[in-house]
Amino acid sequence: MKKINKTKFIFITGGVTSSLGKGIVGASLGVILKSKGHKVTLQKFDPYLNVDPGTMNPYQHGEVFVTEDGCETDLDLGHYERFIDENLSRVNNITSGMIYSEVLAKERRGDYLGNTVQIIPHVTNEIKNHIIAATKQNDYDIIITEIGGTIGDIESLPFLEAIRQFQFKNKENCIHMHLTLVPYLNSSGEFKTKPTQHSVKELRAIGIQTDIIVCRSSKAFPKEIKDKIALFCDVKPTDVIMCPDAKSIYEVPIYLKSEQIDKVIIEKLNLNQSKSNLSEWKKYIDIIYQKDKPNINIGIVGKYTALSDSYLSVTEALKHASAANKCNCNIIWIDSEKLKPSNVSKQLEKCDGILIPGGFGDRGISGKLIAAKYARENKKPYLGLCLGMHIAAIEFARNILKLDDANSTEFNPNCADPIIDFLPNQKQLREKGGTMRLGAYPCHIEKNTKLHSIYKKNEISERHRHRYEFNNTYKSLFEDNGIKFSGNSPDGELVEVIELKNHPWYIACQFHPEFKSRPYKAHPLFNSFIKETLLISTKTS
Ligand code: GLN
Repeated sequence: MKKINKTKFIFITGGVTSSLGKGIVGASLGVILKSKGHKVTLQKFDPYLNVDPGTMNPYQHGEVFVTEDGCETDLDLGHYERFIDENLSRVNNITSGMIYSEVLAKERRGDYLGNTVQIIPHVTNEIKNHIIAATKQNDYDIIITEIGGTIGDIESLPFLEAIRQFQFKNKENCIHMHLTLVPYLNSSGEFKTKPTQHSVKELRAIGIQTDIIVCRSSKAFPKEIKDKIALFCDVKPTDVIMCPDAKSIYEVPIYLKSEQIDKVIIEKLNLNQSKSNLSEWKKYIDIIYQKDKPNINIGIVGKYTALSDSYLSVTEALKHASAANKCNCNIIWIDSEKLKPSNVSKQLEKCDGILIPGGFGDRGISGKLIAAKYARENKKPYLGLCLGMHIAAIEFARNILKLDDANSTEFNPNCADPIIDFLPNQKQLREKGGTMRLGAYPCHIEKNTKLHSIYKKNEISERHRHRYEFNNTYKSLFEDNGIKFSGNSPDGELVEVIELKNHPWYIACQFHPEFKSRPYKAHPLFNSFIKETLLISTKTS
């Protein structure tokens, strides 16, 4: 293939309403272009004023995704990584908060001495610098940049102005893609194009003429709708791409390819035409749509159960592992605040496996302890993730070691037995943003453990996001009573994974394996958890 000597840029904005799935459409586009042999990356601009989403409530904003280099990012980065199967980093998620703090730091340093510091050009220049920074990271052929929010929002205006300026200077290397909603009105039996027309008009008012319009809809619409949108929005009918609701987000690359979005993009960006190969995706989709697969129920015990986006990477990792084991995984959301000794059997007996995900603060902790005890005593497969490991350790300390006041100092700083405690180097920290143990760390796996039989490696690397750790003072007491410390930091100072000796599958880890699971490359821990759960559930049914 001829070498492309200039990076190409695809900017994606959204109109009409939020939550249309810009992240998934961008990621799907990444998949198609990567499968054609192009080196692709994705970048997200988030217009909110938080420096990163690490301090936001997952109930409002959804999961915080953590990159290898320890950046707390928007959940769309999780979609990007899972789709294009590449690790992303700090440069891939930029917020207004980040941009403004950089501009203000420069102002204080005197970098703009003599000037009035303004949105245009100072903020917009900073944004453009971040687009350029993404190109420097690697020799990318294509950078797909998603602008968060919806056209018409006040806070995204500096980003739109920056990409307008950027496109003006790099015309032949940039295209703009606008994602809109084409609603179907049941009462009249019609698809409506007016919201799309208005959104495109709004974009024009900012100085941006879109090149491609991707239309989200509840079902496929007829060609006349494409023609109408094309006529009113100054694009060709082939530049209007349909993207109806799919049963699985992993079908979107296949759908967009069938709409020939790649052909349109390749032509507009003057890239080399080459064949794409989505066979891995097709195989994956065939498995998830395959009928008559066995069913298993996984109970996720958490406090944000009304919004599954709060645990997005966990639910996706469960889906990947279920596809790898050719079964259907029903997720049963268990609200930890409502779990009591009196209702635990009723709530959890229908669950074939139990998972306690990460979390912060003491709300719902007692319910999680009850769930961990139930899984231990009833030999149900248990997977504990980060907080889920703290819970497993506290439950074991209280009920097996009879340390009645065992706790994490996160929940009770004055408890008699602080079996989970602050990292020694975190004791003085006061600031909340970006100060946890974040990102990828190595973990040494002990031989002759379940963990070793799962990973089949002595050394692994997984991503972290936590402040508290297992307190080593208690290690031998735990070991003498049935816990194996199967994963530890290479220097042996930090506990990374614990497992129960007399249990079919009870593993809890300090890290977050969910961040590294990919659709057709299920994560080994999730894969083994689902495999064992399926095995036990088919034996007992
Ligand atoms: N709250 C715990 C800590 O900070 C666990 C964090 C998590 O589950 N991600 O250590």
